[in-house]
Amino acid sequence: MRKKKKKKSFRFSTWLLFTLLVMLQWVTMIALSGAFTALLNRLSRVQRVGVSPELIMFASVSLVTGGVLAFLMGRYFFLPMTELRKAMRQVAEGDYDIQLDERKGLKEIRMIRADFNLMVKELRATEILQTDFVSNVSHEFKTPINAIEGYATLLQGAELLTREEQSRYVDRILLSTGRLSRLVGNILLLSRVDNQAIETKNSNFRMDEQIRQAILLLEADWTKKEIEFDVDLENVEYVGNKGLLFHVWSNLIGNAVKFSPQGGSVRLRLIRRSGRIVFTIQDQGPGIGEAEQKHIFEKFYQSESSHKEEGNGLGLALVKQILNVSGGEISVENVPEGGCRFTVVFTMEE
Ligand code: ADP
Repeated sequence: MRKKKKKKSFRFSTWLLFTLLVMLQWVTMIALSGAFTALLNRLSRVQRVGVSPELIMFASVSLVTGGVLAFLMGRYFFLPMTELRKAMRQVAEGDYDIQLDERKGLKEIRMIRADFNLMVKELRATEILQTDFVSNVSHEFKTPINAIEGYATLLQGAELLTREEQSRYVDRILLSTGRLSRLVGNILLLSRVDNQAIETKNSNFRMDEQIRQAILLLEADWTKKEIEFDVDLENVEYVGNKGLLFHVWSNLIGNAVKFSPQGGSVRLRLIRRSGRIVFTIQDQGPGIGEAEQKHIFEKFYQSESSHKEEGNGLGLALVKQILNVSGGEISVENVPEGGCRFTVVFTMEE
């Protein structure tokens, strides 16, 4: 409340000062013109020396015009600018919640205020992103570290445990260390791609062969789930960063396997048509809700239902970022048969 009062009195005093200045200017002009008229009257020896009705009219018109001008200047220029200056100071002090009324002031000032609002929104989004990133990273690290700590503590009393229990706990520790190492690897890679710190080691390679290699790399996962692959890949020669692109295929195929039901089938296609390379991967998993589709490419996003699956929500963020720097695009849709289809498109320069 106190703050609001102070703001009003400040506005009033600046407005008053401005009004007085304009008035002073007009009063000076009136005084000068009065003095000039008097001088003329004397020189021409006219009897009625003094204030003529014309002068009074001139003075009144001057006062009214000055007042109106001061009011208009204050309302459409001075006050909006003062508000803007104060808002800028608030932002400099770290308050990103402030927004200005974009209807106030002259056209140019309204545009500056709109740009200011946009800038503050961007700053707020970046701040939220950074805070979220730190809390997400901390959370993702905490889970496996807690597990390692817990099982290691259990192993401390090893003489009380059976051999099977011991090996089960060691397995869990190894699983968590694997998860940690994947997490660190993904974060590092993502930050390198984000900061464009990856050298563009472009080479000519066969994209279809690389996709087959990615399928083979994940053999342990899909044989365990008895997934069937329906693969039709055209021979596609491509010039790009081979190492980075491999992450695209391995993440997409890894997800398709992870979210497929036991014994499900995954369909892969790669075609090159009229200057475009199109890769699609379709699974028979639960699909992705429309609301969730907007978020799956964000860092650390995992849908509620998939939290139980192994993962850290960085895979698709990495895929998207790699495609951004490689000139590719990715989209997702659900298919009527159930499951979802990811499509990656590269448009080639002819
Ligand atoms: P995660 O490590 O959780 O797999 P991703 O970034 O790869 O992280 O995926 C983000 C989220 O997108 C997943 O948690 C899941 O909710 C959803 N998702 C990704 N791929 C699929 C898929 N093939 N089927 C269903 N949901 C998927």
